[in-house]
This record gives sequence, C-alpha cells and structure tokens, in this order.
Amino acid sequence: MFRSALPSAERAFQCARCSKRYKRKGSLMYHTRNECGQPPKYFCDFCPYMTTIKSNFTRHCTMQHFSERSSRRCRV
Ligand SMILES: [Zn+2]
Ligand SMILES: [Zn+2]
Repeated sequence: MFRSALPSAERAFQCARCSKRYKRKGSLMYHTRNECGQPPKYFCDFCPYMTTIKSNFTRHCTMQHFSERSSRRCRV
C-alpha cells in the first residue's frame, strides 16, 4: 500500500467560506477572524503577493526578497 493521505481527522477544521483546512481549531478561528473575507492589507512591492496578516507579509518579504539567498533572483 502506498497511501500518504492524511486521515481526515488530521485536518478536521475546515473554513466554511474558502474551504481551507486546519489541524487546530485555533488556527481556523484565527483564519476566519484575520484572513478570510478580509481584504488584503499588505501588498508586496516586488511581486503580486498580498495578505491580510502582517507577520505573513514580513516573512514573505524576508524570505522572498530580502534574504541573502534569494536576493539575486528577485532584484528589481
Ligand atoms: Zn476561509
Ligand atoms: Zn513579494
């Protein structure tokens, strides 16, 4: 048998609006409160990325555009 599918209980909490799934109820609640249905507040200057969550945005910029490794391919 070669099945790697997670058991459904693993991600039991599903957003009713966008169908994203979360392992923890807290994550889903955070999503519905801060992400889902919210217009994006943070727009990346370097790519089309947008998000409602500041920490995600900061991480995106750091990882995608400002880290030493990836700075080369994302220069403007
Ligand atoms: Zn959602
Ligand atoms: Zn970006």
